[in-house]
Formats: sequence, structure tokens, C-alpha cells
Amino acid sequence: MQLTQKDDKKEVEEYFNNTGFERWNKIYSEDAEVNNVQKDIRTGHNQTIQRILAWIDADGDAQYKTFCDAGCGVGSLAIPLTQRGAIVSASDISAAMVKEARERADVQLGDKAMNVSFAVSDLENLSGSYDTVFCIDVMIHYPDEKLKEMISHLSNCAERRMIITFAPYTILLGMLKSFGSLFPGPSKATRAYLHSESYVEGILKELGWQVKRRDFVKSKFYFSTILEAVKQA
Ligand code: SAM
Repeated sequence: MQLTQKDDKKEVEEYFNNTGFERWNKIYSEDAEVNNVQKDIRTGHNQTIQRILAWIDADGDAQYKTFCDAGCGVGSLAIPLTQRGAIVSASDISAAMVKEARERADVQLGDKAMNVSFAVSDLENLSGSYDTVFCIDVMIHYPDEKLKEMISHLSNCAERRMIITFAPYTILLGMLKSFGSLFPGPSKATRAYLHSESYVEGILKELGWQVKRRDFVKSKFYFSTILEAVKQA
């Protein structure tokens, strides 16, 4: 049976409020016991976050900037961005993720905790205007045919810059099996959507964005292409 985007989203929401939350909360917690595959994904994801933060630090202008972290998970990026002085609006389709992110922010940020807000929202219901919109490791839940609509919506919320990541299409075959054990659905392997870099860049171009920096993080079980796009001059 072909799942519609609505079915897909409902299932993703349910997954990340239940077993997916348990699983990914552990992966995104340095001290939690995880298996070797999950450890590898933790390391890969951490590299993605560090590389994005290195770009932000190289620009040195996070202070007082408005940042939107769409699909924030447990706050792995939103929290360090807030630590750097930004005003961050973070959101996620999963209420469990949002609750965990809020708790982590309160523990880790001290006085700066008030500079980050967390809301339960799916990407398509985000509103507002932000200097930068981040969307990290979320596009795996969107099929190619829904990607343009999704990036277009994020683009409407971004004034200057978008930083997005996605699992590249090229390693599809090698990855299917591993993703199959990590994501929900009766046909697990088909539920992780990979995207070609040229396809994503084409969408960004059409929407008036130009890729300024790019990177690629690769480990045994984790692959992520990172693009920073700025408004075309
Ligand atoms: N961006 C975070 C990070 O890198 O630490 C979390 C990545 S996690 C693999 C994917 C997250 O995307 C989950 O927290 C999930 O609930 C969220 N998500 C999936 N589909 C979403 C949607 N349509 N709208 C908002 N969040 C979504």
C-alpha cells in the first residue's frame, strides 16, 4: 500500500513519541548505553553538529541573531546555538522530543535558557521570520516529491540563510538495511527517504538560494550532506 504524506507524518509523530523517542534520546545522550550501530550514528551525528557550529563560529555573528531549528529533536543544535548568544525558536513534531529538549536546555543553559523556546509543531506549520533556519537530519522523513514544498516553506521563514542536512541518495543500497532497523513502518526500509545533492540544490536555486558551504559526514551507519545556502545576490 502506498502511504500518503499524511499517513507518513502521523506515523513519524507516533514513532518519535514512543519507541523512536527512547531510541534516539539514547543515541543523542553521550552517557547512555547503546549498541555499536547506535554508537556509530551518535558519533556521526555529533560530527554534523560540530561542523555546523564550526561554520557559525567562523562567522562569529550568532549573538542576538534569530535562529529557527526545525525538527530540533532533543536540542542537540538549539542548545549550543543559544549558548552562543542567539535567540532560538526550536520545534519538533514530537511532544516527547520537545519536553526532553526543554529539560536539557534548562539544565545546560542557566540564564540563557530563556533565549530558547521549544514548541510542538510540524515543519509545515512553522511561521515567523528568522535570520537562519536550520533543518538537521529531518529530510529523511520526506519523499522527494514532498521535499520542494517543505524546503519552500522553510525558505519563506528564512531571511538570510538556511542550513539543511539530508542523507544522500548515492549510498541508498548500502544504507537500506541499517535504516530498516532504525525507522518505523511495516516496510521499514522504504520509509527512509534519501535525496540526491543536485536535486536538493536545484530546489534551493529555484527558490533563490545559493549554496555557500557544503560538507559531508560519513561513518559506517551515518551519512549526512550539509548545505549552507544564502540568498542569491
Ligand atoms: N534535528 C535534530 C538533531 O539533528 O539532533 C533531530 C534529528 S532526528 C533524526 C529527526 C527529528 O525530526 C525527530 O525529532 C522528529 O520528531 C522530527 N521530525 C520528523 N518529521 C517532522 C516534521 N514533519 N516536522 C517536525 N519535526 C519532524
